[in-house]
Amino acid sequence: MNQYLQFNFKHIWHPYDSMTTPFPCYMVHNAHGIYLNLINGVKIIDGMSSWWSAIHGYNHPRLNMALKNQIDKMSHVMFGGITHLPAIQLCQKLISILPKQLECIFLADSGSVSIEVAMKVALQYSNVLNKHKKVFLTIRNGYHGDTFSAMSVCDPDNSIHNLYFKFLPKNLFAYSPTSSFLGQWKHSDINSFLNLLITHKSIIAAVILEPIVQGVGGMKFYHAEYLKQVRFLCDKHQILLIIDEIATGFGRTGKMFAYEHAKIIPDIVCLGKALTGGTMTLSAMVTKREIANVISNHEPYKLMHGPTFMGNPLACSVACENINILQEGMWKKQIYNIEKQLKKELLPLMNHPYVFDVRILGGIAVVECKYIINVKLMQKFFVDHGVWIKPFKKLIYLTPPYIIDSVSLAKLIHAIQYAIHNKLLFLK
Ligand SMILES: *Cc1c(COP(=O)(O)O)cnc(C)c1O
Repeated sequence: MNQYLQFNFKHIWHPYDSMTTPFPCYMVHNAHGIYLNLINGVKIIDGMSSWWSAIHGYNHPRLNMALKNQIDKMSHVMFGGITHLPAIQLCQKLISILPKQLECIFLADSGSVSIEVAMKVALQYSNVLNKHKKVFLTIRNGYHGDTFSAMSVCDPDNSIHNLYFKFLPKNLFAYSPTSSFLGQWKHSDINSFLNLLITHKSIIAAVILEPIVQGVGGMKFYHAEYLKQVRFLCDKHQILLIIDEIATGFGRTGKMFAYEHAKIIPDIVCLGKALTGGTMTLSAMVTKREIANVISNHEPYKLMHGPTFMGNPLACSVACENINILQEGMWKKQIYNIEKQLKKELLPLMNHPYVFDVRILGGIAVVECKYIINVKLMQKFFVDHGVWIKPFKKLIYLTPPYIIDSVSLAKLIHAIQYAIHNKLLFLK
């Protein structure tokens, strides 16, 4: 092991990892297009887009140019009492791709923080209206981030929750829908949600959900009718609907935003991950005008949030260029081609004895295994096969950059096929 890796393991924490028995790390020297180039000269194909973010690939010339142009003007200025073109132009862009009702934007610094802000807004909104609603209703298997309020609406049975349980506000969890995205809609799916909503509606400040795709909480794709019904019930009982598009936004599911599959409009939407094309940390929480008005018109209430790096000009400029690229429309064809190839080449794995299910939606593929994966070994196996895929629990999933070509995508798929055949990569 080289001296840098030694230092790394001794002193640096990695995501969801231990300081004493950490997972192995691969040192990346640079990244270009769909490739991560390791320090030892090995080139691997990226199947993750750095957790759904680097949708146009790494070192994209136009994204780099946006950063370079901005950096010579200013990297950052405070957003309190100051504004600037990068933030204004980004917000104009966001409004142009969102439904016209969603028009009041709070720029935050990470996905989790945008969720915190959305939850604050919902609480304030109901407080101002003297309704004193103080709990959130969500569904099981969800994931909304790692900060405290965000954790309080993540799946209650996963380990993050157990660790911090005593500190977490108690929210309401409906059973997650069992009707899959492409399957038959089972009307009984909504019952658990409906019952909780009816029983507790006087104290529910908002419903919060990931639209269609439940991400790291289980990588499930649920039926659009569920989201339609949730919207209908929230309207009927005047409860705000917060949609967490942090993973799904910007084309990943085949629509610009995943809620479009259900033809609904959220009251509040949170964006992140792919917002800057995987270059900088930035998120946005967007609300309807009426919500912003209610919480703004009641002095002394204001929206009490203001990160130091709010509206960071570098991040805003590159986000703007990212959306410019998306607006040129290539992503639709790219996602269409990725989905088609994934279905053709990966779905047959469904019949493998170690495989429980294979699911594909847009640029997302999930192979759910029957056994727990030996992540350390399987990750090494993938790197040895020239690809970067990070499995977890029983799940191997792909969220490749939209720009991936069919030969490289085939390599990702083949690597998964080989891994599935290898009994040693599972813990059982
Ligand atoms: C990643 C993610 C978050 C948290 O975003 P961070 O930028 O990691 O704080 C929240 N919700 C969903 C659905 C996510 O996928």
